[in-house]
This record gives sequence, C-alpha cells and structure tokens, in this order.
Amino acid sequence: MLSALMIETDLFSYMVHYSIKRRSIALQIKQGQLTVRAPTAISLPDIQALVRKKHNWILKHMQQAKQHVKPDWLARQQVPLQGKLLTLQLQSASQSLVIFDDDRVIVNISTRVQALRHNIKARELLQQWYKKQALQWFTQRLDHWQNQMSLHAKELVIGNWQSKWGYCKQSGEIGFNWRLMMAPSWLADYVIVHELAHLKHLNHSASFWRLVQQYYIDIDSAQSWLKQHQHWMEI
Ligand SMILES: [Zn+2]
Repeated sequence: MLSALMIETDLFSYMVHYSIKRRSIALQIKQGQLTVRAPTAISLPDIQALVRKKHNWILKHMQQAKQHVKPDWLARQQVPLQGKLLTLQLQSASQSLVIFDDDRVIVNISTRVQALRHNIKARELLQQWYKKQALQWFTQRLDHWQNQMSLHAKELVIGNWQSKWGYCKQSGEIGFNWRLMMAPSWLADYVIVHELAHLKHLNHSASFWRLVQQYYIDIDSAQSWLKQHQHWMEI
C-alpha cells in the first residue's frame, strides 16, 4: 500500500501521507509546503476535493510562511540598516573593503578571492561592516539609556549569535547582537532597555518587567517583531 504520494495542482504540489493510525484528515503547512495527513479510508479524489475547497486558506498560509524564509540580500542587491534599505553593490577591486556612503554599500572583493568564494567573502565583509555600525550606534545609544535609567554597564560587547539579541552578566558586561542593526532602531532600543534592566534584576521577575515597562512602553510589539523577523535578519 502507498503511504506517501506527491500531488500536483496548477499552483503548488503537496504530499499526502496515509496512516492507519489516523482517524481524521489534517492539512499542515510548514516552511511554505503543504502536507496532508489522512486515514487510509479516505480516497485520493476526496483529498483533492478538500484541498480545492481550502485553496484560499492554503495559499494565504503558504504566503505567510514564505515571509519567514530568509531573504537573499546579495541577490536582491539591497541590505537593511536601521529601517532603511540600502543599495548593495558588489565589485572586484585590488583589495577587499566595504565602502558606505549614505544610502549605498559598496563591497569591494579582492581579485585574489576565487569567483566561487565571492558571495561567502561578501557576507563576511558585510558582517564585519554591520558589527562596526553596531559598535558605533550601541556605544552612543547605550550612553543615552544609561543616563535615563541611572544604570551603568561596565563593558559593551557586540556579538554574533543565531538566537540571542543580547545578554547581561553579573559582572556588568552587556552584549548586543550585530543583527539588531538590520532592524529599525526602536527594536535595538528595546533590547538595550531590557539588558540594562538586568543590571538591577538578573531574572525575568515581575519587578524586572516593571522596570523595563517604565522606560519602554510597547514591549509586546518589540518582542513579536523580533520573533517574526528572526530569519529575516541574516546576511
Ligand atoms: Zn532578559
């Protein structure tokens, strides 16, 4: 008996998984891909009819899922910086170097770098450039919030982490992810207030959240924006 098969429609293809254990039919969309899980008693034409009937719902969810897919900034020839989209230009040059002028980022890649490695090198250079921007911006902005909140960090670190926006250590060291430079600045502000508040409360207690709330009103919006754009903020 066939347990899995691929079905094509005009707009998309999907997998049907049959299982003797299932009692009802389920449609799942993961990473923009539809999977139908069905009990063996249900015929294929019935499944196809259901998929046709749910067409709008499926397309809407596939679309939403696609927004979570990491954009290819190099192919788009654009990079985000604090709420602005900058034009990205890659070119060969005698030396690898990033030039930033207002609304344009020019990535020079040394002619010594093999053509096959150009994109890898460009990503490396862009990441270094973002880190530099981050160090400048956070140094300045941290100062502002420290004065506002009367809390002072001992050391500022700019880091590269997949799933953490910032941290605060008991020693007073505070760290921020360079990826926050890809987001509008109200999100980096939220992370600064959050980490500074940890200097007083090294936990996520009610008192901690009260302190954050005192300086940052829309915590929920900031948290959900960061959650939704986590895949988007990659180079
Ligand atoms: Zn925290």
